[in-house]
Amino acid sequence: MPDLLVIKSCFLSCLLVLLQTSSSQQDEQSQLLLVSFDGFRWDYVNRVPTPNFRALMDEGVQVEQVENTYITKTYPNHYTLVTGLHAETHGIVANEMYDPIHNLTFSMEGSEVYDAWWWEEAVPLWVTNQKAGRKSGAAMWPGSDVAIGGTYPTHYLSYNASMTFETRVEKLIDWFSGPEAINFGVLYWEEPDESGHNLGPESPLMDVVIADIDEKLGFLRGKLRTAGLYDKVNLIVTSDHGMTQLSHDKIIELDTYVSRDLYTWIDKSPVVGILPKEGKLEEVYNSLKNANPNMVVYKKEEIPDHYHYRHNVRIMPLIIEVKEGWTIMQNRNGSFMLGNHGYNNSLPSMHPLFVARGPAFRCDYTKASMRSVDLYPLMCSILGLKPLPNNGSLSSVQDLLVETSTPKPVVPPVPREPSCAWAVGSVLGAALVIGFLFIFVQQVTQRQHLPLHLSNSEITQPLL
Ligand SMILES: [Zn+2]
Repeated sequence: MPDLLVIKSCFLSCLLVLLQTSSSQQDEQSQLLLVSFDGFRWDYVNRVPTPNFRALMDEGVQVEQVENTYITKTYPNHYTLVTGLHAETHGIVANEMYDPIHNLTFSMEGSEVYDAWWWEEAVPLWVTNQKAGRKSGAAMWPGSDVAIGGTYPTHYLSYNASMTFETRVEKLIDWFSGPEAINFGVLYWEEPDESGHNLGPESPLMDVVIADIDEKLGFLRGKLRTAGLYDKVNLIVTSDHGMTQLSHDKIIELDTYVSRDLYTWIDKSPVVGILPKEGKLEEVYNSLKNANPNMVVYKKEEIPDHYHYRHNVRIMPLIIEVKEGWTIMQNRNGSFMLGNHGYNNSLPSMHPLFVARGPAFRCDYTKASMRSVDLYPLMCSILGLKPLPNNGSLSSVQDLLVETSTPKPVVPPVPREPSCAWAVGSVLGAALVIGFLFIFVQQVTQRQHLPLHLSNSEITQPLL
């Protein structure tokens, strides 16, 4: 019997080691870093040599066309990426908003960005991650320095446009390292959006900007490698929108068609909200609806279903959308840019880049299309988190992951590809089973020897 106790004890110890090995592997596989290069149009990678983006595509996955959410502006889309919700549902419907219930305005450049209630129609992924007992880190992602629902990311940086990309990366690497490591990080960089607005995407000068972004991605890859994180952290590099070329010949001046006394102008070109003065809705609408062939005016209830842009008080009673490449202003005294975004989200020029690599992702795989709302359930699956209600679909993007058979959105991710830990665990497990069987057979054999003698002596007696 003491032998059996030893066997049992040995078996349980080894089982524990196996479980711990498996658990640590799950921890490794559930790390995720989401990077946004603002305004990085999907086809920028084809303009100049981009060896770092190419490497990610070879080592992982790329999606050729990502349909982002309407309106294709920075704040709505960054919040969509971390909530899986269209703008009408997460409530950040534009970069500049008016909330008629609070009678307050929001500008992405104002201090009201820090008033959490603007953001609290949704819960971003870093908060959900922390509620599950994990740690998050955020470097300048829109909304990540706001106490949404009373919760900041575990580690975050207050927005400071002058902080270099390299410093932001180094902070994140620190957070991903060490015994108190985060498992989810978000990183935001302002380019190439800023240059795209100033130069226009068709400018040859953009080539230098794109090459510089590729070098920045190279810096991030290098830092991950040095920290021993490159093959552990799932890395997603994407953007909020693309960019299209504008022209001084394509300007619509609203003052030509309707008096400013009749409405308040909300947000900026190319989709503006029009808040008519009391009782003036029909008058304003009738003045605008056939005014210019390069713009469309929608009453709120007539906004097309596929925009998912209607059911929120922050969406104005009238919206004006102009055709691609056109600019709408009240008159030409306003500031003019050579590049812009915000247009119809079905336009390829509005679509962002999407590449990803890491233990959860397939290798050298190209997918034709996805919706940006699908990224949220995908990230929840990688992190082993139960997603909150969202507009995305894991099954639509499941093929990007190594395992494509059964979606596992709730439980921690299972091992998806061979790794050192898995190999060690497998060898240990096989050795354990063989060892256990060997000892067990030995014990059984020994116990059977005694009865065998008895049997031998018994057969000397006549069988009945
Ligand atoms: Zn943007």
